[in-house]
Amino acid sequence: MCAIFGVGSHKEASKITYLGLHALQHRGQEGAGIVSTTDGEPHVCRRKGHVAEVFTESALNRLHGSAAIGHTRYSTTGGNTMANLQPLLMKSSFGWVGIAHNGNLVNAAALTQKLEAEGSIFQSTNDTEVIIHLMARSRERDPERALIEALRQVEGAYSLLVLVKDKLIAVRDPYGFRPLVLGEFLGGPVFASETTAFDLVGAAYKREIAPGEMVVVPLEAPKNMVSTFPFEKTLKRRCVFEAIYFARPDSVLYDQSVHTMRKDFGRVLADEHPALGADVVIPVPDSGVPAAIGFAERSGIPFDMGIIRSHYIGRTFIEPGQAIRDFGVKLKLNPVREAIQGKKVVVVDDSLVRGTTSKKLIKHLRDTGGAKEVHVRISAPPTAYPCFYGIDTPTRSELLASSHSIEKIRDYIGADSLGYLSLDGLLKSISLKSGEGFCHACFSGEYPTPI
Ligand code: SF4
Repeated sequence: MCAIFGVGSHKEASKITYLGLHALQHRGQEGAGIVSTTDGEPHVCRRKGHVAEVFTESALNRLHGSAAIGHTRYSTTGGNTMANLQPLLMKSSFGWVGIAHNGNLVNAAALTQKLEAEGSIFQSTNDTEVIIHLMARSRERDPERALIEALRQVEGAYSLLVLVKDKLIAVRDPYGFRPLVLGEFLGGPVFASETTAFDLVGAAYKREIAPGEMVVVPLEAPKNMVSTFPFEKTLKRRCVFEAIYFARPDSVLYDQSVHTMRKDFGRVLADEHPALGADVVIPVPDSGVPAAIGFAERSGIPFDMGIIRSHYIGRTFIEPGQAIRDFGVKLKLNPVREAIQGKKVVVVDDSLVRGTTSKKLIKHLRDTGGAKEVHVRISAPPTAYPCFYGIDTPTRSELLASSHSIEKIRDYIGADSLGYLSLDGLLKSISLKSGEGFCHACFSGEYPTPI
């Protein structure tokens, strides 16, 4: 997962982009970058770290221009190195290209091998660089047409913002795996991974960029932006995990409120796996909160904040590497004894991936919080398959649900009972336009593309 943000026409484009990236920090914390342009020349700043650390005032002041694109990185392909930070900025025969990518290309390795055999020299191990090499090799001399030709050769997930000297281009892959939205700010277009970024900068949310859509904004006349659908039509498969876990609850995703969707998941979960006789419903904060509210509302069991989260440590699932996951739970989550002591507690969480966090948390709730019983309810189906479309799920062997029954998982995490939202229940509680669907491969193993 990553975040992208772009603005086509504002005298302080890089500062607006900086603010937008701030609101999208939850989508990637390894590094951040901005490419802006003025008088046809690019300016770039990319560093490791959080958005607030990367962009000092002097760095922002050097990012001149009325158009900018930005990125926060969380690696799925390529390691956490400086060369892999985005937006990538490269020169080609038709001029410079800045590119910010959220997603993952499933045929990047094969394309890289072919391009290297034909003489291309890669500067990063980032799948996004493949797109630039394909553009550079195109016979098309117009960057927009070269981009279309390049994207027709890649498979997988991409929501992209591309900046060249006279255009800002936003494009989403035909399946629509990763989100991308269009807003309006002081009469000009803005683009973001999630609408929460528009709220922060004061832009108005206009609409989702549709799967397979390309929007081209001429920098000289941003109001004359043009929308086309240059790719072969395919099934639309938006990522359902965005709705469950990744997107911020204050965002509008797929034209629906994330908060409301998550409350609905909690309601259906309570229907499917009621915890009869329980005393209190508590969420695993922050992302389990809306589902726990829905569960409590439907079941009639009182809701309480029985766990407090420290905000000074990152999300365990999103930080790559095993080390931080192993010691992170107690640093991050602590029970509120007064809310759970001696009680039969329903703990609502939005995912259970490796099970290590849940196991430690349940022990902590019993040992430190004094909970009498702990009943775990997950507002998603069991995660049994890895994602190849831009979410850093573990390999199949690390996914508890790929090799364990629900009873074995319950036993492993030490819960008194365990219930997951069914895939049917999940899909019934979110509606899309007729004929459009979701990717749910990490639950079902049904990958929309060849892997
Ligand atoms: S495999 Fe899962 S996380 Fe990946 S795009 Fe599909 S639903 Fe989303």
